[in-house]
Amino acid sequence: MNLNAIRDDIRSMSAYPVPTLAEDAIKLDAMELPYMLPESLRQQLAHELANAPINRYPNPVGSGLAAQIRATFAVPDSAQIALGNGSDELIALITQLVAKPHATVLSVAPSFVMYQHNARLLGMNYVGVPLNADFTLNLDAMLAAIAEHQPALIFLAYPNNPTGVPFARDEVEQIIAAATGLVVIDEAYGAFAQDSFLARAGQPEHLLVLRTLSKIGFAGLRLGFVAGSAAVLDELAKILPPYNMNQLSLIAGKFALQHMDKVNHFIDELKIERANLRQALNALPETQAFESHANFITVRLPKADEAFERLKQNNIWVKKLSGSHALLSDCLRLTIGTPEQNVQMLRVLQQHSQAVEQSRQTGNVPKGHLRLWLGVVLLLVMAAVVWYWMNTSNAM
Ligand SMILES: *Cc1c(COP(=O)(O)O)cnc(C)c1O
Repeated sequence: MNLNAIRDDIRSMSAYPVPTLAEDAIKLDAMELPYMLPESLRQQLAHELANAPINRYPNPVGSGLAAQIRATFAVPDSAQIALGNGSDELIALITQLVAKPHATVLSVAPSFVMYQHNARLLGMNYVGVPLNADFTLNLDAMLAAIAEHQPALIFLAYPNNPTGVPFARDEVEQIIAAATGLVVIDEAYGAFAQDSFLARAGQPEHLLVLRTLSKIGFAGLRLGFVAGSAAVLDELAKILPPYNMNQLSLIAGKFALQHMDKVNHFIDELKIERANLRQALNALPETQAFESHANFITVRLPKADEAFERLKQNNIWVKKLSGSHALLSDCLRLTIGTPEQNVQMLRVLQQHSQAVEQSRQTGNVPKGHLRLWLGVVLLLVMAAVVWYWMNTSNAM
């Protein structure tokens, strides 16, 4: 087979890494909820899934999930919704909707990597306008970039991933007003935030609001939705794969949303944990935990790469942001876990900051290493002495 047939740009990409971790790993790298629904509810769900008509093609409206989403999230009557196999699929489809040659997709930088990925895949221009150093919006730069590039599509993650720092609502409003094409407000972390544009979806017509169930406990279901005007969603309907959702997810998603009281309880706990964790992190020397309105905290700390390795050695998996963007030097992204998980993560980070302090005091060689090397040298000397003694005694 001749692989030359495959696009050069794709052949030079690397695939999105999805690590397979040990069962007991503390997984704080992907903003998953650390809880599942209680056992009794899962039994009920199992019963419903057992009766799912998997011989039939799925139907989002017929399944009742679409109506349940409207009720749960208070989607305005004036807005239409479309379901996606994760909001990732909707990001890809909305980008396809505007993928004319030379058209531009615009977002902030750093932001969610899939915006750029899809734009590039479709041969579009991509512009990432740098955030301020404190991860707030640079409104002037955004408005200037909109005027210059006339983007067909703007993505704004609200709150933003991987930074979590909230954007000022009135600045987002100004961006929506200045936009020359579609605007997607991606509220993947909406459940953890204090503000939302969902009530405004479709008003104005070019404003779309994207949501997902992934960050509130159901990442495995792959369920996202977009709310917007009929004018835009009627066009999106033309390229939505007719059977993109699966029957089991539709049923499980509806069930999940019928039990939002449980989910909201988890969310409330995580918000408390977020505040506690941020305070504890900021108490570490030279460590800055940024404000977050999402279910993760982005933190800048000395020798972040070493901290990442130390966490890994302790079976704790977080996201290393350092190296992915100039503004993210020495940053890690920590998903908020259970109170126990957060305590363990914090303990390792405290050990890390002690190690950093110590290595500064003893010059650049950490004490442990120094002892190890002294030991090795001593052993070699002893071995040489023994060897010399054996040789000389043989000769006698
Ligand atoms: C996690 C995330 C998504 C993807 O969500 P899925 O519904 O799981 O595909 C979309 N946007 C942002 C900003 C995210 O962080």
